[in-house]
Amino acid sequence: MEQDEALFRSAASSEIRRLKAVRNVGVFAHVDAGKTTVTERFLALAGVVKRAGSVDDGNTVTDFLPAERERGITIQSAAISFPWGWHNNPAGDDYEANDQVQVSLIDTPGHVDFSVEVNRSVAVLDGAVLVVDAVAGVQAQTETVWRAMTRPSLNNHELASGDDLDGSKQKQAAQQHAHEPLACLALINKMDKDGCHFGNAIKSLREKLPGANPLPIQVPLFRASGIGGGGSSSKLFGSRNIVAIPIDDVATATGEFVGVIDLIHMRAIVWPDLPSADVESCVPEVIPLLQFGTHEPFDADCRVTQEALTARTEFLEAMAECDERMEEFYLSEEEPSNVEIRAALRRATLSQRALPVMASAALRGKGIEPVLDAIADLLPCPLDRIPPALITADGGNGEQQTSSQDATAKKIALGHPLNPNLLAFAFKVLHMKGRGGSGDGRVVFARVYSGEIRDRQVLEVMTPPPPGEAPAPPRTERVGGMLELAGGRFTNLQDGVCKSGGVCALVGLKSVVTGDTLVLMPDNTGKNKKKKQHDRVYLAGVTSPKPVLTVRLETESTEQQSRLSEALTLLAVEDPSLVVKESDSATLLSGLGELHIEVILDRLYREFGLQVLVGSPSVTYRETIKGTIESLGLVEYDRTIGGTRLQGAVHIVLEPTWCDDSTNACIMLTDPVVTVSKQAREFLGVDLEKSEADLVLKSPIFKALIEGCQGALKRGPLGSYAMSNITCHVVDVDAAEGLTGLQALPGALRAASANAISKTLGEHHGICCVLEPTMSLEVTLPNDMVGTVLSDLSGRRGTVGDVFVGETVGSVQAKALVRGQVPLVEILGYANSLRSLTAGTAAFTAEYTGHSPCGRV
Ligand code: GDP
Repeated sequence: MEQDEALFRSAASSEIRRLKAVRNVGVFAHVDAGKTTVTERFLALAGVVKRAGSVDDGNTVTDFLPAERERGITIQSAAISFPWGWHNNPAGDDYEANDQVQVSLIDTPGHVDFSVEVNRSVAVLDGAVLVVDAVAGVQAQTETVWRAMTRPSLNNHELASGDDLDGSKQKQAAQQHAHEPLACLALINKMDKDGCHFGNAIKSLREKLPGANPLPIQVPLFRASGIGGGGSSSKLFGSRNIVAIPIDDVATATGEFVGVIDLIHMRAIVWPDLPSADVESCVPEVIPLLQFGTHEPFDADCRVTQEALTARTEFLEAMAECDERMEEFYLSEEEPSNVEIRAALRRATLSQRALPVMASAALRGKGIEPVLDAIADLLPCPLDRIPPALITADGGNGEQQTSSQDATAKKIALGHPLNPNLLAFAFKVLHMKGRGGSGDGRVVFARVYSGEIRDRQVLEVMTPPPPGEAPAPPRTERVGGMLELAGGRFTNLQDGVCKSGGVCALVGLKSVVTGDTLVLMPDNTGKNKKKKQHDRVYLAGVTSPKPVLTVRLETESTEQQSRLSEALTLLAVEDPSLVVKESDSATLLSGLGELHIEVILDRLYREFGLQVLVGSPSVTYRETIKGTIESLGLVEYDRTIGGTRLQGAVHIVLEPTWCDDSTNACIMLTDPVVTVSKQAREFLGVDLEKSEADLVLKSPIFKALIEGCQGALKRGPLGSYAMSNITCHVVDVDAAEGLTGLQALPGALRAASANAISKTLGEHHGICCVLEPTMSLEVTLPNDMVGTVLSDLSGRRGTVGDVFVGETVGSVQAKALVRGQVPLVEILGYANSLRSLTAGTAAFTAEYTGHSPCGRV
C-alpha cells in the first residue's frame, strides 16, 4: 500500500510538471478588432504555419470555412496546439515553470449572432486574451464576451430556474462547481492606426467591463520623426526619435507605433518596419533600460527610461493594491525581483483581481511575442482551475460517484486533471469533407478533463438531457483516429493520445454531438461488472439560446429537398442553436438572427451546392404572465368520448419566473416548469421526494399529468404563442373513481390538467402578455448622420441608450456611436435600410438581449 502511494506520488509529480505547461486559451474580441490576425501571428511565430495568413486575402488557418473567408469574420471555432518557448525573457531571469508551454488556441467567434460558439469555447478554456481595438476601445461585443467569460455558470450552462432538475440538490451542486470566470489578458490592438489611444482604451476597459481592474504592463513606443513629437536621440535608441506615450496622456498618439516598454523587465522591445508580407521575419530588438542587479538606468537622460520609471512606479503601486506580497515590498520600499513581480501578477490575474493590459499592431507583426510570453507567465494551467461540475444520471451531485482505478485516485474528483479516469467534453463538431472516417466527415473537438483518450479506444457517450428530462442511455463509439494541424492542414496523428488538460480532434465518432460527455467504456469484467445506471456521470453541456428568427425554405425538386434535409441535419449537429423543422411542404429553419441564417444559407450553397428559395423571416413570439394566477379550486373535467368517460379534476397555480418591475424588462426565455405538490403526489400514490423528471419515467399517470400541463402551456391565450418563463404548480388532483379510475385511464388526467390550465389562462388573460425578441443595437456612423439614424430608430420602436459624438482629431474623421434597444421585428433587413439612409457610411451590430413584453396580440 505504501509502495502504491509512493508510485502514485512520483507519477503524479511528473504529471503535475506536464500539466503546469499546458495553456488552453481563447482569443475573444468584438468583430473586426483583430482576433483572427492576432491568432494567425501566434501560429506564425510558433511555426505552426509558414506564413501568417491574412484575413484580407482570405487565407487564414483558423477561419477555414469559405463563408468566413468571404466575410472576413470568424464564425466557427477551431482548436490548434503549439509549443511556445519563453521568447523575450533573458536567460538568468529564471521562471522555470513557463519556459516551454503547450498552448492550445481555441479560436472563438466574434459575432454575437454566434454566441453559442462563445459559450461553448468558454466552457473548455482555462484563460483568455481579450483583443480590443485601440481606436474604438471596448465595443458592444467586447462587453458580451466579457459577460460570457466572467459569468459563473455550470459549464456556461446558465443557472435558470428551469434548470433545477432536482430541487436544491442540483442547484447546490451547480453552485459549488460553477464554471469559474476565466482569467484574462487584454490586448489593445491596431496601435498603428490613426486615432489609437492606449490610455482611452484602458479607460473603456475599466468603465465598461464590470469587475475588470485593467493594469497596463506595457507602455507603447512611437517613432516621432518628422512630426515634431518631442522624441530625442539617446545612447539607447540612437537617432530613432523614439518616444513613450504616457498612459494617461490626453492627446491621441501621433507617429508610428514601433514597440513597447515592458514594465516588468524594464526594457524596450522595438520591432522593425517591414511590409506586411514579411512580418514573419519581424524579429524585435530588446533594449534593457536598467542595469542587471543594481537597477541603475543605462542612460539616466533617456526620455524613454524616465517615462518607463514613472510608469513602473505606478504599476508597482497598483500591484500593491491587489497582492499582499507586493504590498509588503511597497511598504518596505524594497524593489521586488522580476520573478516576484511575475508571480504576483499571475496570482492577481488568476483570481481576476487584475487584468494585465498590453499593446500590439498585429497586422504589422508588432507586440505579439510578449503576448505569448504573458500567456505562459500569467494565464492558468488546468491545475489552477476548479474541475467541471458533474451530474449523475439520477440527477444528483456526481462527486462521490467516481469509479476509480485505484484507491489513492479516489481522493481526487473525476474531472480533476490528476484523476486517471477519462472524462472529456465534446465542445465542437465540424464536418470536413474527406475526413472523419464515418462518411460524413465528422470531426469532434474534445477537451480532456481527466484521464486520457487514445486512438481506437471504445468510448461511452452521454448526451445531457434537456432540463427536466432524464438522460438517454449512453451510446458506445470507437475513436477512429486523431487529427493534428500541421503546416496549415489537418493530418492524421499516428497512435494519437490526448492526455488530461489537452484538446484533441477526433474522427470516426458517428453519433457525438456538441455538448456530449465522453468517458471510457467500462470494462465489463471483474469488479466493474456491476456498474449501474446511477454510477454514470456527465457534464452539464452547453445551453444554446433559443432561436428568435425563422425562415421557410423550399427547394425545386424532391431530390433537392432530401439533400437539403441531409445538409441541415449536419449543420444542426455542428450548431445546436440552429433548429430545423420539416413538414411535407417545406422546411422551417430557425436561428439567432439574420446573419446567423444568412451564413447557413451561404454554407448550403457553397458546401452542399443547394440553392433554396427563402421565405420572409418571422420572429419568435412567446406569451407569459405578469403575476400569479390560480384556478378556482379543483377544475372539473368530465367528457365522454367514443363511449369512454374521461373524468378528473385538477387545481393549479401559475407563477411567473421573471419580474415585471421595469418598463424595459428584457428576459431570457426559459421553458415552463411543472411541479407537483405533496398532496397531489399522495393522491397519485407516487414518491414524495423524487424529482418530477424521475417520476415521469416511473409512473404513467404522473407522466399523463405533466404532459397535460406541458401541452396546454404550448398555446397561450393571447396569440396562441407558447408560454414561457412560468412555473405551473399542481396543487391537488381528484377523480370521481379515485386513483384506480385514473390508473385505468391516464388520458383522463392528461385532459383534466390541460383543461385546468387553458381555463385558468383564459379567465385571466388580462394578466398575460406577449413577449417579442429584442436586440441591443450599436450603430457607428458619421457625426452628421446621428439625427437621421435616431429618428429612423424611434420609428422602429427603438429606445436609445447612449449617443457618443466623436471629436475629429487632425485628419481623422471621428465617428459617432449610437446604442439602444429595438425589437427584432423592426430591424429585419436593417443592413439595407441603414445603407441607403447613410449612403453606406454607417455600420451596425445587433445582439439578441432577450424577450420583452410588447403590446402585440
Ligand atoms: P476579427 O474579426 O476580430 O477576427 O478581426 P480580423 O483579424 O479579421 O481583422 C479585421 C480587420 O482589421 C482586417 O482588415 C485586418 O487586416 C485589420 N487589422 C487587424 N489587426 C490590425 C492591426 O494591428 N492594425 C491595423 N491597422 N489593422 C488591423
